[in-house]
Amino acid sequence: MGADVAVGGASNSSVPIRRSPTYYEIPAPPELDWRPYRSPFYAEYRREWDRRGSEGDPGEAPLHLDLDLTSRCNLRCLMCPRTWFLERGETSWAPGGPGDMDPGLFRETASEGARLGARSVKMNFLGEPLLHPHVVELVAYAASLGLWVMMNTNAVLLSPALSRDLLEAGLTDVFFSFDSPYREEYERIRRGASYDRTLSNIRAFMEAKEALGLRYVQTRASMVLPEDPAGRGRAEVDYVRLFRDLGVAEVGFGLPTVMGRDYAPLNGGLDFVCPDLFRRVFVFHDGVAGPCCGDWERRLVVGDARKSSVSEIWKSPAYERLRSRHLAGAFAEVPACLCCSVPYLSTAGGDGGGSRGGAGRHAAGRRP
Ligand code: SF4
Ligand code: SF4
Repeated sequence: MGADVAVGGASNSSVPIRRSPTYYEIPAPPELDWRPYRSPFYAEYRREWDRRGSEGDPGEAPLHLDLDLTSRCNLRCLMCPRTWFLERGETSWAPGGPGDMDPGLFRETASEGARLGARSVKMNFLGEPLLHPHVVELVAYAASLGLWVMMNTNAVLLSPALSRDLLEAGLTDVFFSFDSPYREEYERIRRGASYDRTLSNIRAFMEAKEALGLRYVQTRASMVLPEDPAGRGRAEVDYVRLFRDLGVAEVGFGLPTVMGRDYAPLNGGLDFVCPDLFRRVFVFHDGVAGPCCGDWERRLVVGDARKSSVSEIWKSPAYERLRSRHLAGAFAEVPACLCCSVPYLSTAGGDGGGSRGGAGRHAAGRRP
């Protein structure tokens, strides 16, 4: 965790800035803080999230599910790993081509996860969740299970009617991926998106949230900072101002990720245990399951939700072996982990916010 300072003078002094070498977040000012409106179980869930990561305790089941509603996307953002892979004809992240998760698979996985003790679900991983034709119905289903329902979105398809439907369905945490406070820069990076239309969608979402009185709904906007450090300070201030004016609670900034960089030489000899192995499971749209958002190449498959239960995946020999190697101080013996940015970035002075492509993709750090 970093120092409690603010960009643009807007900060909640009771909540420290989340900071890692590649990402940091300005917390909500008191008038936009959503935490006081959550049930006490939320604080307990966050404590358990931290405890599992720091103690290397997987418990009996995942605390959080990442269920990829779709691996399709309506944009081709410059800094996104998805774009990077597509442009190289690399398809290991979606072997049969990008597609949507079967609603039945989503329901079964979410319902078993909730029954076992999961507290939250994120509705995306490799694509834009609003493209899924049943997104509202699936949000409602997950909310009916008592899960906190989270989503990253580029907000391009977030019409006023859809905003209202999602909020009424029970969406609790929305993370807008919106790069740059400046029209020209935004449209250069977010290829295929209109600055004015997307901003108007976010405004309508915030108005719907206000009209419905949903103070517990968390909102965050995040951007990848310009590659030239000289332009960052002004962009940060303008970005915070833009989203605070819209009533968005939190604002996050990621450094540009260098796709294709080999972290193996930097990771050698580090003392590192990946915290995600003890709290979450990622299910690709086709049911294949992995331990983290960094493994686009599917080298760390730990199961398949079409063939195995959540419990079986969580306790699978593949997942147990991966945890054991990390706990034994041998993460570097796992080729995918040896090449990953997370060990280096999270032991080089940060708190683990540098997922491989995390800053580039959605600038959302590694918190769900
Ligand atoms: S950053 Fe998000 S919106 Fe942009 S191409 Fe990647 S997945 Fe799609
Ligand atoms: S690839 Fe990276 S994020 Fe994934 S388990 Fe290994 S170290 Fe953790």
